[in-house]
Amino acid sequence: MSAPTPSRAPRLTVVAGPTAVGKGTIVAELRRRHPELFISVSATTRLPRPGEVDGVHYHFVSDEQFDRLVADGQMLEWALVHGQNRYGTPRGPVQGELDAGRPALLEIDLAGARQVRHSMPEAQLVFIAPPSWDELVSRLVGRGTEGEAERERRLATARVEMDAADEFDRVIVNDTVARATDELEELLGLAG
Ligand code: 5GP
Repeated sequence: MSAPTPSRAPRLTVVAGPTAVGKGTIVAELRRRHPELFISVSATTRLPRPGEVDGVHYHFVSDEQFDRLVADGQMLEWALVHGQNRYGTPRGPVQGELDAGRPALLEIDLAGARQVRHSMPEAQLVFIAPPSWDELVSRLVGRGTEGEAERERRLATARVEMDAADEFDRVIVNDTVARATDELEELLGLAG
């Protein structure tokens, strides 16, 4: 009798977590370590920020273009984020990677992660958590760029987002970027 082979099948991995937890930094570090890893480029209706490049940071599209992508079934998931702009994952490139036997990574919001859970139950959902609630608060308010009302609004959102951790397959605590990235690397099957 042979021992069962561990499943190393390429998977879709979804990273989500509360505002200001540092998911972007972890994903950037992962990209630095593994430039070959496919990380989905989302489509969004928001305007580019200075320095953002179309097709690199996002595919910047009009409302009409976004409507069409959704109507044509070309979005794996999409959500209205912060009640302002729509963001979505183009299905084709992700499916192409998985079909070619390579892993794929998405960094999206909570609503999007829930949609992926439904449409692709085999995906692994990873929640990035702060070391503590107080730490998240200080990361959120630390910048000092938001007024009192905006800060309160973001904290309220973060509290709801933190409550979603239980829905995820794995939780990675972002205590240090290097350690959290090691863990994500492991989950993706990329660790040395
Ligand atoms: P930002 O406008 O700061 O680049 O991104 C705002 C939020 O949009 C982030 O929380 C990010 O996770 C989320 N987001 C980016 N791309 C996607 C996407 O394709 N789908 C969903 N659902 N959320 C996204």
